[in-house]
Amino acid sequence: MERAFARIDLGALRANCERLRAELGESRLCAVVKADGYGHGAAACAGAALAGGASALAVAVATEATELAAAGLVGADGAAGAGSKGAPELITLGALTDAEVDVVLGAGSAISVWRPGFLELVAARARALGRPARVHVKHDSGMGRLGTFDGEEVVALARAVAADPDLELAGVWTHFATADEPDDDGGYFFEQLDRFEPVAAAVRAEFPAVTVHAANSAAVFRSPRSHFDMARCGVAIYGLDPFQDDPTSRGLRPALSWHSHVAAVKRFPVGQSAGYGRRWKAPEDTWVGLVPLGYGDGVRRALTNHCDVLVAGRRYPLVGTVSMDNLTIDLGPETEIEPGAEAVLIGRQGEEEIRAEEIAARLETINYEVTCAISPRVPRVTEGG
Ligand SMILES: *Cc1c(COP(=O)(O)O)cnc(C)c1O
Repeated sequence: MERAFARIDLGALRANCERLRAELGESRLCAVVKADGYGHGAAACAGAALAGGASALAVAVATEATELAAAGLVGADGAAGAGSKGAPELITLGALTDAEVDVVLGAGSAISVWRPGFLELVAARARALGRPARVHVKHDSGMGRLGTFDGEEVVALARAVAADPDLELAGVWTHFATADEPDDDGGYFFEQLDRFEPVAAAVRAEFPAVTVHAANSAAVFRSPRSHFDMARCGVAIYGLDPFQDDPTSRGLRPALSWHSHVAAVKRFPVGQSAGYGRRWKAPEDTWVGLVPLGYGDGVRRALTNHCDVLVAGRRYPLVGTVSMDNLTIDLGPETEIEPGAEAVLIGRQGEEEIRAEEIAARLETINYEVTCAISPRVPRVTEGG
């Protein structure tokens, strides 16, 4: 038995992509597998997403593009860029250093561009590499992050890309700040759409083959107006709810569960404390179970005295301080739990379930951060691939 592992249900991933494809109708699905697939394992999840009907993949940083190319998931073989020859297109969404441009182009990935100086650099590097770079021009319609605010500059950049033999115009795109907040600030989501639509239309009028994309997972469910030619979905493909709600209410199935075991069971006399700083003391004589998992694995220390763990189909409170390698749970004054029993931090046991959304709420964060935080010390075990 492993000390701890995260089980990744690739069948759930595939089904979630099929669910999103149904929501999208004619629009294509781009599966976002940045940050090691939101902690689920990038390459395995990318493969499952493609099997579920995704036709493009997106990452944030250069090394992530390299990883997917090395896994053979995109055409980094010197073809005219991924996306040709039926290979799925790979897009690197984030800002890149000069050196990273070579890495990303070498991986056969498209690049995101929003200023002329960077476009020239990409063209020069593509020329040196001997194959044109695919470019997605980014409009900042209100996120206030990457991209240009200036719609005319978007159109000018698109023209510059189309006119350069070392470049190929692949897309024009934007990103929403409040798609996941249905009562956002008087409809900021729709304000962004209002700003992006004419920019995208102007580019498309001149370059009909361009792929227009804007929606993240939340936007897909929020409004079909955001779907355009393609949606970039991350969180929902993993069966995490984009609105921090119950994912099953939107037909999504959580793909990740997080398992360990009870390594020791000890009798605590009333008043005995558990862990560093004595932040919990047994209120009565009780049995305490030790689970060999801690913040070194991504169990946040802020969960000290503040979450449950499933054992034998029941919830038990995590008590005492979460340390780097261990945590403790109160099994109660009478227990039949013995060392070796399975412990589940995220997932289901019998009728009980703890979802990433529950942990996120306890930590006042979002489900994205909970799964991304599971550290490399926890092996990812895939099933249903
Ligand atoms: C991470 C990311 C996405 C995916 O967002 P989800 O909310 O996980 O669906 C889409 N687009 C960009 C630019 C991103 O950075």
